[in-house]
Amino acid sequence: MKVKKVKVLKFDGDCLSSAENIFKAVNIIMSEKEFPAVVISAFEGMTDLLIEGIDKAKGKEQNVSDTISILTENHFNIAQESIKNDKIFNKTIADITIQIKKAERLLYGVAYTEEITEAVRAYILSYGERIAASILAGVLEDNGCDSRVIETDKIGLVTDESFENAIVNLEEFKRNFNFTAHNIINTGIIPIFTGFFGNTPEGKVTTFGRRGADYTASVIAYGFNATQLEIWKCNTAFMSADPDMVKNARIIEKLSYFEAAELVYFGKRALHPLTIEPVAGAEIPIHIKNLLDSEGKGTMIAQDAYIEENIIKSVSQNDNISMIRINGTGIGYKPGLIRKFSNALAAENINIFATVSSQTTINLIIENQDAEQSYEILNRYKGKIIEKIDFVRNIALVAVIGEGLVKKRGIFARILGAVSDEKVNVEMASAGASEVAIYIIVPKDELSDTVNAIHEEFFGGK
Ligand code: ASP
Ligand code: MG
Repeated sequence: MKVKKVKVLKFDGDCLSSAENIFKAVNIIMSEKEFPAVVISAFEGMTDLLIEGIDKAKGKEQNVSDTISILTENHFNIAQESIKNDKIFNKTIADITIQIKKAERLLYGVAYTEEITEAVRAYILSYGERIAASILAGVLEDNGCDSRVIETDKIGLVTDESFENAIVNLEEFKRNFNFTAHNIINTGIIPIFTGFFGNTPEGKVTTFGRRGADYTASVIAYGFNATQLEIWKCNTAFMSADPDMVKNARIIEKLSYFEAAELVYFGKRALHPLTIEPVAGAEIPIHIKNLLDSEGKGTMIAQDAYIEENIIKSVSQNDNISMIRINGTGIGYKPGLIRKFSNALAAENINIFATVSSQTTINLIIENQDAEQSYEILNRYKGKIIEKIDFVRNIALVAVIGEGLVKKRGIFARILGAVSDEKVNVEMASAGASEVAIYIIVPKDELSDTVNAIHEEFFGGK
């Protein structure tokens, strides 16, 4: 038997809500030279519709039919615009009608019982992807291409039990998936995987959080040991700065896994933050492409630490953070403090975005939505060692990213110089903690000046 090479192609459902764009995707799939395994996410607005639909369903039957009408109309329209053959159209409509019925029953369950478990919620949310996959399969068939929907709660894609932010057990998945992967490759029928969800060991549906289909695609690429993961978005995902903030921001052509892993936590979150991990371990490159500029080079993410002459590849920001500053003259002497704090926060499901510490201070950077609660939790530790805890608001974190920045003399000085020329006061900085990133914290209302000054220093032009 000839062993075929698999390439995983992931399409953002957000981009496929018009027939024109679905045809672009179908073209890309059909002209792929390697064997394509497709991963898709829900069409634009459909996950939001289901999220709202769940909230509105509680105790209000009438609201369920409203949600279901919009869900039905939207998908019927997309199918109608993009499938020409009557027989294939009717079959697709029959398939998605069954799926919509199931989502409807689940929502009525919520309406009658006025309550919902995390597992049922995840199950309802998964329908956006299930329906989108059926429509894409219909369009492929309409274009003479055999394909098959593979629902990702039926292939051993086992996760932990956090239903809204699940993490995949990669080794177990690979073992479970081996047989399916062989079958898929042997039949040669193009698989369309539903992104965004997996299941617990007991078989309950779990989701990966918003944009989670990127992570699915990476996990599927790992499962196939694919030659490449190609992710199609409808924007230019990785740029030297946020183009809404910096006018002459430009596309980044190459990134290492480490640089990309830093960047996905910033700005507009170009990818689901866990996307890099599964493929990085297997050294499968990721190619990020823009469906609206399909000839464009896109961004290649791979193992190699490619050092730009300029060193810096991107200046990005996060202004959705606060800082909690824990002070005490004995902090440096007391072992296990950071672990204690991070355990206390983790117990409440709070994630620490970054930490910077010295002998007398531990600074925890926390996302705004968790900051107030974190402050309360940490205040319980005030006493002998912890003398004072400050809650620092209205700040923003700027990350300057590039392989080689710690090894090249003068980079940090150039960053600080550019910022100080703008008369911005840097409240905190961390250099050398990562080989590819320097973080600085500035007042929120000076964020734009800061980012522009650093960008200009390394990329020129106003
Ligand atoms: N449909 C999900 C969302 O809207 C997952 C995804 O798009 O990747 O977040
Ligand atoms: Mg999406």
